[in-house]
Amino acid sequence: MNPEDLRAYLGFFRDIGIREVYLRSGTPAPAESPAPPPAQAPAMEPSPTQELLLAELPSLAPPGDSLERILADIGDCQRCRLHKGRKHIVFADGNPNAKLVFVGEGPGADEDEQGVPFVGRAGQLLTAMIENTAAREGIPLKRSDVYICNVVKCRPPENRTPEPDEMEICGQFLFRQLAVIRPKAICALGGTAARALLGRKEGVTKLRGHWYKWRDIPVMVTYHPSYLLRPYNQNAKREAWEDLKKVFHYVYD
Ligand code: URA
Repeated sequence: MNPEDLRAYLGFFRDIGIREVYLRSGTPAPAESPAPPPAQAPAMEPSPTQELLLAELPSLAPPGDSLERILADIGDCQRCRLHKGRKHIVFADGNPNAKLVFVGEGPGADEDEQGVPFVGRAGQLLTAMIENTAAREGIPLKRSDVYICNVVKCRPPENRTPEPDEMEICGQFLFRQLAVIRPKAICALGGTAARALLGRKEGVTKLRGHWYKWRDIPVMVTYHPSYLLRPYNQNAKREAWEDLKKVFHYVYD
């Protein structure tokens, strides 16, 4: 790795708040990424004509819907098998008037314990990525300024990927949350969120870094923070950072 690459590589970790790194041989150098385009109405990828999953469900939102009403409608939900292992329904965290919504997959053990999304290791990385990337771009943004939720609101056993029927049942509440908040943009974290919002089956590696739409709201797909925690995904970390920069400049410039 040449000194330039090493500086960029370590800079990424500094930006997301990591202060200690351990030397290991054989790590490939991350590719240099181009500067972000100016923030403007994002160019959208065409919608898929097939592979329509949750994205094409009719609106289930009652007139005058609100986040309080959605929570009340979820109630002591037993609509799918996921309720059996849960401690808490994990509805959302953050600002209900946010301009930006992050959508993850589903709660893990820490989230189930606390009833709050993205509070475990992946959540701490997400928080650091939001706050440090924004700060580095001159945007004063805290985690509490955005809205964070998941496709499914109960923890899947062993943190497995939610099944299509679980996503469909719980997806109606996600869609109502998004319809009530009407953010300027949505950031889909990982393949499950991308599938739920866009009805696309391609992997995140293919979808990330581009703009799509959920209804008329721009959606950026990027890697799930759990994936970024794996030690061998160095390039993905840099790509996620670039994706977030695009989103922040579009939403907050
Ligand atoms: N992973 C998710 O997708 N959501 C959370 O809330 C935590 C981890």
